[in-house]
Amino acid sequence: MGGEVIRTVGLKKSYLTGAGALEVLHGVDLAIGEGEFVAVMGPSGSGKSTFMNILGCLDTPTSGEYFLLGERAGTLSPDQLAARRGRYLGFVFQGFNLLPRADLVENVALPLLYAKVPWAERRERARQKLDLVGLLPWAGHRPAQVSGGQQQRAAIARALAGEPSLILADEPTGNLDSQNSDEIMRLFTELNDKGLTLIVVTHEPDVAACARRLVRFHDGLVVEDGPVAGRRRP
Ligand code: ADP
Repeated sequence: MGGEVIRTVGLKKSYLTGAGALEVLHGVDLAIGEGEFVAVMGPSGSGKSTFMNILGCLDTPTSGEYFLLGERAGTLSPDQLAARRGRYLGFVFQGFNLLPRADLVENVALPLLYAKVPWAERRERARQKLDLVGLLPWAGHRPAQVSGGQQQRAAIARALAGEPSLILADEPTGNLDSQNSDEIMRLFTELNDKGLTLIVVTHEPDVAACARRLVRFHDGLVVEDGPVAGRRRP
């Protein structure tokens, strides 16, 4: 285990609504180190997405500090945030978000296109990531030709394509049955065993139980933070 990947200090976020400013994060202090596997839980509306959007450099806090890999990220411009996203972060979503007309190699290679990596190298690196998630035999298939679990594995390969320091996953098993869900959590567990840092938002206790650490939000604050008791190996 190495350094700190994430640190937030007194992080607050307000939205302007018709009724005035609505504060949805009330001062979140959280540090996450290299190699951690963190599950984020909490009721709907407790601020999880707002918090993850800030961690993912998709949004900035109203006040407080956010440090990504020791660098202050809470006050960056949209271009600087986009550069941090491309360089350090990988995203996995509930709905996979794969391009339907592209095959799995092209889907996984897409972030490298934005990073201006030459075509042959893009393809080679995408194939390596597909191999890592067990999908090399399906490299030439389109998303609709493989199962939901396989689509999510391809999305994880895409998230890994840029060699990120951190993967942020938002309800990654929300669209999957329990067998495919376990397949995804098994992959996350293996990747974490190899040192990958992971933050996974989930409503499912079975999914959270696969993580090493559980952070629970309620009403815009962290109300619980500690090791997962009785960790599950999916
Ligand atoms: P969770 O992900 O835990 O369901 P959210 O972070 O999505 O919680 O939402 C927290 C609160 O912030 C909710 O009350 C939600 O209605 C409010 N909220 C989220 N985004 C906005 C926005 N863009 N404008 C106004 N209110 C918002």
